Amino acid sequence: MRVLLVEDDPSLGEGIRTALRRAAYSVDWMQDGVKALAAIRDGGFDLVVLDLGLPYMDGIEVIRAARRAGSSTPILVLSARERASDRTLGLDVGADDYLGKPFDTSEFLARVRALMRRSAGTGNPLLIVGRLELDPARLAVSWRGRNIDLPRREFALLWSLMESPGRVVTRETLQQRLYGWDEDVASNAVDVHVHHIRKKLPPTLIRTVRGVGFALDEAVAADAAT
Ligand code: CA
Repeated sequence: MRVLLVEDDPSLGEGIRTALRRAAYSVDWMQDGVKALAAIRDGGFDLVVLDLGLPYMDGIEVIRAARRAGSSTPILVLSARERASDRTLGLDVGADDYLGKPFDTSEFLARVRALMRRSAGTGNPLLIVGRLELDPARLAVSWRGRNIDLPRREFALLWSLMESPGRVVTRETLQQRLYGWDEDVASNAVDVHVHHIRKKLPPTLIRTVRGVGFALDEAVAADAAT
């Protein structure tokens, strides 16, 4: 899952980015409102985490302009503006949730997960495809009831495929969901992660669609053969 973080405070931004990356999200971090709006309008994010007091363009204006431009990406506002009127304004112009600073990291991550669920149209905190289960809160994967240990990027890759079982997810999309703009990525990184996942789960669970990307095989996930 790919998150756009918009925060002009360097140490707070660094802390939030680290927390999100540890939770298996890929993060693109921007520090002013104008760049943030351009990125939101370009699309491709699953969630925007937005500070309100920003250089060049205030967070409220960013939300307003993004919604006017037709973006429906969920927006979680983070702000030290504690007044109820600011919270109301943020929500009324199109934010989806609001968290006052300072906040607790685990509450922040729980809100991130809740917004992701809502935008995926599900209330279930677990992703379940056949006998395969993934728990974003615990960063845990199980296959036929047995826990499978996956490092962060393998976890994020499987998560992306489980979001739309049976459908092809392109290499480019997967790469964006695993790595932020500022991270160096080897051109075969996605393939390497798939290779590692195949050693830990049934090798045919992830289907290669030559020249396009990968798909989670629902029949294999259903484990019909056994
Ligand atoms: Ca600020």
